[in-house]
Amino acid sequence: MSTEPTARAWIEVDGSALRRNLERVRQAVGPEVAMIPMVKSDAYGLGVLGTVRALEPSSPHAWGVATVAEGLELRGFGVTRRVIVFSPVALDEMDAGVEGDLTFSISDVEALDAVVEAAARFDRQADIHVEIDTGMGRAGFAWTEADAWGPAVAARTGGRVRWKGVFTHFHSADEPDLSSVREQVERFDRALERLPLPDEEGFLVHLCNSAAALRSPEFARHSVRPGIVLYGGGMEGGVETEPVVSVRARVSLIRDVPPGATLGYGATWRAVGRERWATVGIGYGDGLPRALGNRGTALVRGRRVPIIGRISMDMTVVDITGVPEVERGEVVTFLGREASGPGGGPEISLEEMAGWADTISYEILTGFAPRLPRVWRRDEGG
Ligand SMILES: *Cc1c(COP(=O)(O)O)cnc(C)c1O
Repeated sequence: MSTEPTARAWIEVDGSALRRNLERVRQAVGPEVAMIPMVKSDAYGLGVLGTVRALEPSSPHAWGVATVAEGLELRGFGVTRRVIVFSPVALDEMDAGVEGDLTFSISDVEALDAVVEAAARFDRQADIHVEIDTGMGRAGFAWTEADAWGPAVAARTGGRVRWKGVFTHFHSADEPDLSSVREQVERFDRALERLPLPDEEGFLVHLCNSAAALRSPEFARHSVRPGIVLYGGGMEGGVETEPVVSVRARVSLIRDVPPGATLGYGATWRAVGRERWATVGIGYGDGLPRALGNRGTALVRGRRVPIIGRISMDMTVVDITGVPEVERGEVVTFLGREASGPGGGPEISLEEMAGWADTISYEILTGFAPRLPRVWRRDEGG
């Protein structure tokens, strides 16, 4: 029995490239801007522990998560740095969050009251950042009503609960037209002017996700919250990131089939002439999008080979008629660069795979299943 992580299918993560992508954001916004790397959803599927280890030498200001459980998981790993929870959470999770020394983002007074109560119950300090909704609509106090909620927030903070920041989130920072970004900044600033902001040391004003940090760094203010760019997601507008993630799997069977042979559920592929098919040990149960069947390609021996038939839960078949020398056990690359040596080989980018699957790079990355071992490379240093 083989227990090697690379025996069947795996995700390869380049920790050095991950760190270089963070430094790229830092260069864009300037060294004085505090970094809050977003590591929610298991660091966009890469694995949060490996990601935190890779980025820790860059001394970020805080880690950004989405849920209390994610924050507590980091504490369980011994992470002592600030952890900010960036989604509204259930009121009965405030106790656990306060005990775990998590910072909450607050979108309404009821949630703030729950934090105040939890802090009193445990006689603990708790920190909050206030979110302002300038058009995203899913969370945050309304920018138009700062006169009403501003004093309510101020009245509840300053004691055990410290108001440590205020932020908003752009809805279209990755679109070619940046006029909505400018409009959201204006709304944010109009709300800020009317807020009784506290005199807290290290108070942070922040607006930018990845796309905004790289394309509109003039809006960075005190801090930025990059996510996808760290993990190698490219964007519209010529912003270059380094690939971080590769998905690879081994050929488990090779078959020569006669004309007319059918393949896969629904028999959606039928051999035209004599064909050579390679069965590869990866499927939609590993997070390879099923939409790639009869649509996407993979890389083997420096060549692109078509994915034929429907993708099954555990197996995918590629047509190697044009690369007949491929052998059982060989590695097929479904995402990323084929050869990991200097110079590299052909590449399937996140954006290309997302296009085949009619989705975005974020969903591709977070869709990879726990069954795929994450194999970290940190060899190149830096
Ligand atoms: C996820 C998230 C980000 C990061 O967005 P990217 O587009 O991945 O850079 C930033 N801020 C908030 C509030 C988020 O939820």
